[in-house]
Amino acid sequence: MKLILLGAPGSGKGTQAEHLSRRLDIPAISTGQMLREAIAAGTELGKKARLFVESGGLVPDDIMIGLIQERVTQNDCQKGFILDGFPRTIPQAEALDCAVGIDAVLSIEIADEEIERRMSGRRSCPKCGASYHMEYRQPRQDGVCDNCGSALERRADDEPETVRVRLETYHENTAPLKGYYARMGKLKSAVSQHAIEDTSQRCLGALGL
Ligand code: AMP
Repeated sequence: MKLILLGAPGSGKGTQAEHLSRRLDIPAISTGQMLREAIAAGTELGKKARLFVESGGLVPDDIMIGLIQERVTQNDCQKGFILDGFPRTIPQAEALDCAVGIDAVLSIEIADEEIERRMSGRRSCPKCGASYHMEYRQPRQDGVCDNCGSALERRADDEPETVRVRLETYHENTAPLKGYYARMGKLKSAVSQHAIEDTSQRCLGALGL
């Protein structure tokens, strides 16, 4: 199954990508996480991407297309993959179509007001990338990553002002992808619920799993 998850920042698509990854036993690929790791490691990619990511804008298409083409041709993707955060523009979607055949696109729907509320509680681990929420997905010990014991942080781009920019970027550049994939007959959608498990059920239902 080659699957794309679409959804505004804060829609819960990262969490659902992880659930589906375990359920289908295929990797979840988060381009945002790949960029954050590159930025933390100070690689060439990280240096090019840093300002775009921190301001809430998009990293240029040519960089992202090269990155994903390399990733989806790795061995662990032979049975399929779940893309979380790619494509984010029509040119990225077109490049992906040329490289691999996508089976389905699942859009997770959520209102902007709910997003701003949810994002303020998000915390993540700067070391391993695990994500938490102060209300919905608490770590076992307050402020500490369950996986690696690092102190949790709020991502720089989860600050309220940057969240607003990211939402605008989503509506302008990424939401049009829904029409693009609907015309190809590949679009499914699920409405994001308060409880993570309820959203998971909706996602599985929308995908017929
Ligand atoms: P995410 O974790 O998916 O919300 O991504 C965090 C940030 O990484 C985004 O706000 C963008 O700046 C950048 N980014 C991630 N994926 C892409 C992409 N496919 N195209 C352009 N920029 C991206």
